[in-house]
Amino acid sequence: MMATTHVFTGLAVVAPVAALAPEFAVPLAVGAILGGLAPDFDLVFAHRRTLHFPVAGVALAVPAVAFAVAFPSSVAVALATFAVAAWLHAASDALGGGPEMDPWNDRSERAVYDHVRSRWIRPRRWIRYDGAPEDAALAVALAVPALIVFDGWISAVVVGGIAVSLAYALLRRRLVAWVPDWLE
Ligand SMILES: [Zn+2]
Repeated sequence: MMATTHVFTGLAVVAPVAALAPEFAVPLAVGAILGGLAPDFDLVFAHRRTLHFPVAGVALAVPAVAFAVAFPSSVAVALATFAVAAWLHAASDALGGGPEMDPWNDRSERAVYDHVRSRWIRPRRWIRYDGAPEDAALAVALAVPALIVFDGWISAVVVGGIAVSLAYALLRRRLVAWVPDWLE
């Protein structure tokens, strides 16, 4: 799934919370955006492994949420949201394709690494590859709650994210030819 799909997933989850507690809208949005992006910074390490915790991530997310509910503060809310969004990112990577740039010629059976069982989880391919038409549709659908609830710079980020998602999805199949071999 696209990075933007992961960000919109996090924002969709926190949108109802932000509607009920607008004083925490900014930490909720910041946590969701950064948490949705963060796992893929392992691109430079072992991608979908170093910073992806599809199973163990819940062990951090649950206490972080419990703490933020018990002792609500901007920092606690942002950290809890970050943990939830990062866990959802890693877990949902299992529902998409592998990390390969060219899934038409080169399919991988490694979706995301499960550190608890020390093995790779295979891709379910509900979303066939990042930037697939169904990925773009999912991204736009998940962006709707955020567009309704958030305003100001957060809605600007969401609108920009939708534009990037649609452009990426339109160019996705052509990108394969442009990407140099050493990047794949
Ligand atoms: Zn990922």
